[in-house]
Amino acid sequence: MSRILAIVGRPNVGKSTLFNRLIESREAIVDEASGVTRDRNYGKSEWNGKMFSVIDTGGYVVNSDDVFEAEINKQVHLAIDEADVILFVVDVESGITDLDDAVAEILRRSGKKVVVAVNKVDNNQRILDAQEFYGLGLGEIYCISSMTGSGTGDLLDQVVESF
Ligand code: GDP
Ligand code: MG
Repeated sequence: MSRILAIVGRPNVGKSTLFNRLIESREAIVDEASGVTRDRNYGKSEWNGKMFSVIDTGGYVVNSDDVFEAEINKQVHLAIDEADVILFVVDVESGITDLDDAVAEILRRSGKKVVVAVNKVDNNQRILDAQEFYGLGLGEIYCISSMTGSGTGDLLDQVVESF
């Protein structure tokens, strides 16, 4: 049985930072200035004794909202086709954006298991700010800081539950 986790979300929410933490090696290229990463990166991870593959989606950031949305939609549909579990990463600093809502709707209709990670929750105040992400309509949210690793254990417990 294949166990594939795909990480999706807007650029700059912290997908590659989380990917690097999950696979504990730095295969994805993170450009601090632009948040640009290679198109897709694959890695292996293990949690609670379960091995699984991780896909970091992301693509290239382009300077047009339309192309940008089309690229994210492409990545989301690829993830739905390929993955057993989809990790939808959102950013507490920006709050819910229109693009987040659009992605959430596609994911809701996919029938796939989706786990929502609210990233950049670096301190307790931000846990309060994160509550708005229940508004995505995707159920439970997991507050994490990909930078410090905070909250990623509970997140992974949920991710591997069905593996
Ligand atoms: P991606 O475009 O979604 O892959 O995002 P990246 O992983 O490239 O990160 C985008 C930016 O967000 C980088 O400057 C990261 O250092 C920053 N970042 C990622 N995770 C966190 C976090 O947990 N807290 C904070 N404060 N910044 C983060
Ligand atoms: Mg990236």
